[in-house]
Amino acid sequence: MPAAIIDGKHLAAQIRDKLAQEVVDLVARGVAPGLAVVLIGQNPASQVYVRNKRAACEKAGIASFSHDLPESASEDELLSLIELLNRNPAIHGILVQLPLPGHIDEKRVIRAIAPEKDVDGFHPYNVGLLSIGEPCLAPCTPSGIMSLIDSTGVNIAGARATVIGRSNIVGKPVALMLLARSATVTICHSKTRDIAEEIRRSDIVVAAVGRPAFVKGEWIKPGAVVIDVGINRLPSGRLAGDVEFEEAAKRAAAITPVPGGVGPMTIAMLLKNTVEAAKKLCDRAIVKNERTNAR
Ligand code: NAP
Repeated sequence: MPAAIIDGKHLAAQIRDKLAQEVVDLVARGVAPGLAVVLIGQNPASQVYVRNKRAACEKAGIASFSHDLPESASEDELLSLIELLNRNPAIHGILVQLPLPGHIDEKRVIRAIAPEKDVDGFHPYNVGLLSIGEPCLAPCTPSGIMSLIDSTGVNIAGARATVIGRSNIVGKPVALMLLARSATVTICHSKTRDIAEEIRRSDIVVAAVGRPAFVKGEWIKPGAVVIDVGINRLPSGRLAGDVEFEEAAKRAAAITPVPGGVGPMTIAMLLKNTVEAAKKLCDRAIVKNERTNAR
């Protein structure tokens, strides 16, 4: 039987609709969730991502604050802006679009964002919480991947899961999330000796390599769930994932398409994190009021 195609667009739309309702409830409680999106320079891909994120915010009723700095902006200028955004109570999430121009230290910038506003989930504080299994603002693409896997109904606990790629934004965090759900996790990378062998015995495969058709269809275990994170632009201009889709779909139980799989989920999770951050602020304000009233 051919694989079920996991519809990331549909799932993301459902999540966004639910969030829009939560935003209405929050506004009624006096908190209007706000996301600051900071873009430095004119990178065309970044411009598209930022435009999509801002549009998605507006659709969900989240206020979007745009901060576009020129390519020549200094690290100090960016850090000063982040400091202002950290202190601004109307802003619950801060997103600095990566990559940054070479003269700016990305790590320093990520560390400057207040962890409770770090809706990308890249701050070492949130990374630490994720690694010890505590509630945190988790990175968006891995959270989206977990929702896609859950949507298939597969039992993650006890499943063999292989993640190909060990980046800080996809591979490592998704491996931690799978581990937290009691999968037996293997992480593959460029030095792994026999990736095909690892995949052949995996019930769940997450491919985050950045190489078109890297995962061969014949490697897929019959009945596996395959999540293709890769976004590769082919010479023809077409977008392709990291998995040989047609062949893999003949063996897998469920597989994500590219585009229309992981991509839409990333933005939905960004909105979710922003709403979560706003809710926390709202809850903290209630607790503070109760304490003041009790005095
Ligand atoms: P990355 O930082 O470049 O990491 C790629 C990983 O793949 C590295 O861990 C690397 O291993 C591994 N790798 C590269 N060549 C390999 C090979 N020949 N054999 C085995 N492993 C190999 O990329 P990333 O940021 O994680 O992104 C991965 C892909 O996902 C890209 O196509 C990106 O565009 C896409 N992506 C999509 C979304 C979305 O929203 N859909 C979000 C983020 C990323 P080493 O560590 O050993 O070098």
